[in-house]
Amino acid sequence: MSWKRTADAVVIGGGMMGMATAYYLKRIGVNDVVLVEENTPASGSTGRCAASFRAQWGGALNITLGKACIDRFEHLAEHLDINLDIQLYQNGYLLVAYTESQFEQFKKNVELQNSMGVPSKLLNHAEALEICPGIEIGDAVGFSYYKRDGHADPMITNFAYYEAARRIGVRVEKFTKATGFKVGFGHVKGVVTNKGEVDTDIVVNAAGPWAGRVGALAGLNIPVKGERHELMATEPVDFGVCPTMLMSFEPDYYIFQRPHGSILAGCGPSRYRAEAAPFDDYALGASWNFMEHMAGHVNKLIPRARELRVVRQWSGMYDITPDLQPVIGESDELKGFWVNVSGARGFMFGPVAGEMVAEKIVNGHTSLPIDEFHWRRYAEGRFLVEPSVA
Ligand SMILES: Cc1cc2nc3c(=O)[nH]c(=O)nc-3n(C[C@H](O)[C@H](O)[C@H](O)COP(=O)(O)OP(=O)(O)OC[C@H]3O[C@@H](n4cnc5c(N)ncnc54)[C@H](O)[C@@H]3O)c2cc1C
Repeated sequence: MSWKRTADAVVIGGGMMGMATAYYLKRIGVNDVVLVEENTPASGSTGRCAASFRAQWGGALNITLGKACIDRFEHLAEHLDINLDIQLYQNGYLLVAYTESQFEQFKKNVELQNSMGVPSKLLNHAEALEICPGIEIGDAVGFSYYKRDGHADPMITNFAYYEAARRIGVRVEKFTKATGFKVGFGHVKGVVTNKGEVDTDIVVNAAGPWAGRVGALAGLNIPVKGERHELMATEPVDFGVCPTMLMSFEPDYYIFQRPHGSILAGCGPSRYRAEAAPFDDYALGASWNFMEHMAGHVNKLIPRARELRVVRQWSGMYDITPDLQPVIGESDELKGFWVNVSGARGFMFGPVAGEMVAEKIVNGHTSLPIDEFHWRRYAEGRFLVEPSVA
């Protein structure tokens, strides 16, 4: 197809955040929307993630968005008018507190969640074992649980947005890398790519972990970098070995079973990073340190999983921001240049953050609050506090 040199809006990045943004821009009323993706949709963090979602956050903004995302995932096929099964599985997150202070925080979180229409609850050991039989959690102090939290398939969900976007007329340019920007009088004027230039007054940088690098092409300091995180998957076994998402923030782990039977387990890099490739060079790869460390958690928590073989191990990039919160909004320095970065929760927040950014661009206001996520907060010395992250 021949290259078209103009667009009403250009979105950079074909992961969940970018694909959803492009879809909603078009759906809400922007006529000519182009998405440029250096590789293929879902080839970045999205296709490598655990694809879990939750409303069990400790901050009001995150609870609001988390809840909205669950509503969206539960009805995604109708919402997108597309016949795709995203393999949604909802049997809750069972959050584990190992200290009194963690459990005190859970109590505050649950109170706030309940006040915002999320009927999560605190559980004792017996109740936790009813949800997830056979786990060894004798050393835990307490638990919180919300049954609508869950997980889905990241590739299919990203593809659902890709297909829906294409059907309503978004032009998706694969293998197209943004290499620079045209600017003039403090406003973005176009995107330069390896395939050619596109003149436009609106750019959305949804390049996830690479958003800082993409911003730098326009001379902007977007505070986002990549941090490598690993996951492992076991051979499939009968469903029920770990029917809920078992998660702790300290120690940091998450373990769950996909409907096809594999148990997936992951954790942050700080505890095992020693042998790994440098964390600032965006190198992917899998480390023995992770495997040893993560297998230790699985073996301890789920005795029935001890004999299982690990069949796959991989890594992906978290899109890390200074306070581990989203970075969303229009640049104060370069008008028309928008950023939509999730702060390492882009699978779950993508559908709603994409819609909110599109609403803001088209209507100037949003139906859910996202203004707090603007990155000018860092220059103003404000960090957002979210107690429920590792
Ligand atoms: C192991 C792991 C587990 C995770 N688990 C979860 C989870 O359970 N739930 C959750 O919500 N999140 C999870 N995350 C985080 C989640 O994966 C990311 O926050 C999310 O995928 C970010 O989506 P995105 O669309 O912003 O970025 P990406 O999916 O990375 O998409 C960005 C795209 O931009 C493209 N790009 C980059 N530079 C350019 C350029 N110059 N020109 C054109 N295209 C470019 C890239 O090729 C890429 O495809 C996890 C991440 C990892 C690594």
